[in-house]
Amino acid sequence: MIMPIHLYGTRVWDGPAKKVTKFDDKLVGLIRDMFETMYNADGIGLAANQVGLQMSFAVMDISVMEDYAGEKPLVVINPEIVESSGEYVMEEGCLSVPGIRDEVTRADRLVVRFTDGNFERVETELTGMWARVFQHEYDHLQQKFFINRLSGVKRQILKPKLSKIKRNEVKSRYPVVSALDEKKSG
Ligand code: ZN
Repeated sequence: MIMPIHLYGTRVWDGPAKKVTKFDDKLVGLIRDMFETMYNADGIGLAANQVGLQMSFAVMDISVMEDYAGEKPLVVINPEIVESSGEYVMEEGCLSVPGIRDEVTRADRLVVRFTDGNFERVETELTGMWARVFQHEYDHLQQKFFINRLSGVKRQILKPKLSKIKRNEVKSRYPVVSALDEKKSG
């Protein structure tokens, strides 16, 4: 089932993503829906709060990128960053912040812990694009967006665009919920 993506400014971002404690069929179904929603929107990562769920998990698949064609999809539940080092700059966008892209500095090597799609706890090293996507989704689970990592000046410039996102005046190719939609439905 394709779920609407909750844009910047919607209520789900007011509260923290809670630790997942039930590893059941319901979670399996949510993970499947999240992948379907992500692929439908041509995304390479999607955090649960982006579909309105205050739960600490995300799905990722970077195999659409030429250099990562052989990579398998990844499910990360209750993720933690144990170590991070290095840095590199790359342009990012986000399904919850349509129409905005900007350069973000991130660590290029991580040691992370999470529960995977087989519900097994894993500790592993991530580098390159995997490290970047992991950090982007991890940020979402801490109620953050890539725009929170931009300079104050850049964020100031983006303000009118962010207001448009709240009013759902930005075109998206996928179903969304905006702050205005939430206000209307009470
Ligand atoms: Zn995002």
